[in-house]
Amino acid sequence: MAVERTKAVPRVLVVGAGIAGMQAALDIANAGYEVVLVERLPSIGGRMAQLSETFPTLDCSQCILTPRTVEVGRHPNIQLLTYSEVEAVTGQAGHFQVRIRRRAAYVDWEKCTGCGLCQEKCPSKVPAEFQRGLGPRKAIYTLSPQAVPNKPVIDRESCIYFQKGRCRACEKFCPTGAIAYEQTDTFVETEVGAIILATGYDLYPLERMPEYGGGNIPDVIDALAFERLLSASGPTSGKVRRPSDGAEPREVVFIQCAGSREPQRHWPHCSKICCMYSAKQAILYRHRVHDGQAYIFYIDIRSPGKGYDEFIQRAMEKEDVVYLRGKVSRVFAEDGKVVVLGADTLSGQQVRIAADLVVVAPALIPRPDTRRLAEMLGVEIDERGWLTAANGDLQPVETNRPGIFLAGTAVGPMDIPETVAHASAAAAKAMAVVKRET
Ligand SMILES: Cc1cc2nc3c(=O)[nH]c(=O)nc-3n(C[C@H](O)[C@H](O)[C@H](O)COP(=O)(O)OP(=O)(O)OC[C@H]3O[C@@H](n4cnc5c(N)ncnc54)[C@H](O)[C@@H]3O)c2cc1C
Repeated sequence: MAVERTKAVPRVLVVGAGIAGMQAALDIANAGYEVVLVERLPSIGGRMAQLSETFPTLDCSQCILTPRTVEVGRHPNIQLLTYSEVEAVTGQAGHFQVRIRRRAAYVDWEKCTGCGLCQEKCPSKVPAEFQRGLGPRKAIYTLSPQAVPNKPVIDRESCIYFQKGRCRACEKFCPTGAIAYEQTDTFVETEVGAIILATGYDLYPLERMPEYGGGNIPDVIDALAFERLLSASGPTSGKVRRPSDGAEPREVVFIQCAGSREPQRHWPHCSKICCMYSAKQAILYRHRVHDGQAYIFYIDIRSPGKGYDEFIQRAMEKEDVVYLRGKVSRVFAEDGKVVVLGADTLSGQQVRIAADLVVVAPALIPRPDTRRLAEMLGVEIDERGWLTAANGDLQPVETNRPGIFLAGTAVGPMDIPETVAHASAAAAKAMAVVKRET
């Protein structure tokens, strides 16, 4: 019997535009193939866009990210669909049919020039998710000043016009008539030869950890919130200030392994990057508050990586960060301070620190809705919800479904260099599929 040979569609769908999705998209686009890059949020960059500086070089995260986001935004081979989600996928390797929902932004992005006047004039303020709730955003907003694309969306839930039928301030002040309250969701149908899933990670919420205040103590924040405090584009313009009263914290306690390596109560896995980023944050705190004291509670230090162990030594020896080997048993508010009770297992002593600010390094966890995506695509996830390679040892980016690949922290905790290498591997595998006949 003659077998019909057809050319694979020379186009790849990449889901998620954090550093993993962007790296994969750029590799593929630069090799001459088309990419459809789908991002759920209004702009690209993922978690890396929220970081201040990166270990171990202390490069400014936004400075190394921005050239990439700009390249993705302008690349002739990349169709960037932000504020969008994949709704349905049928077909097989070489020929997947994909349906993508583009959420209504209520702003005509063709007419919008990104001048920002609408955001300035909007009277409705809510806590900004991008700032981890430490600063406000408006009902019409972009994620950050460096957003790509630099086009705003209206959040219906906090828009006075959508909720009460009056206001329309953004419409009044928009110089190009770009506000479009009547906009509805639209759909894009496309065909691709391969798919890369790069949907990233979440942080285990403080609300789930009553031992660290359960999210009820304003001066106990998670590590991403601290990144925003350190960032020049953050709510305090890079000055370390405690959320409760805006004071400069003199003593800061960092707590590693919060919810990680705790199979009884929380998650069993090691989140892999917390030792490094906690050291980074303690160093950066000391750079901002020269006479401040930083403490780090740790179980043990895991710092394999080029220059990583030296970086930890630098925190200990040059920056005078006090490392306390042991678990924190309780954190509570008392007399304007946050009291941290713990054990120092090296000296065998109980420790009590009355801190001004506590920074918790929560477990990195799978995004809950990646499960829905995995079910829709028929790809495997493990019992905790991470996307899973078909053969983790020798095929770390291939799923059980031919033509569908994995990139970055959707698979498990990784730092940025590992994420980028993983994404480039996924791009190479995807290109091998779209290049061949099926
Ligand atoms: C506090 C902290 C500090 C850190 N500091 C450092 C550091 O100094 N150096 C370092 O190397 N690493 C650091 N990291 C790790 C770094 O954040 C990650 O390695 C990197 O951001 C992972 O990128 P990613 O693209 O895999 O995931 P993400 O950045 O999470 O990107 C995933 C993207 O996919 C999108 N998405 C999710 N689901 C969908 C969907 N269904 N459809 C469409 N889009 C979707 C998301 O909106 C997001 O934009 C730090 C992490 C934390 C928590």
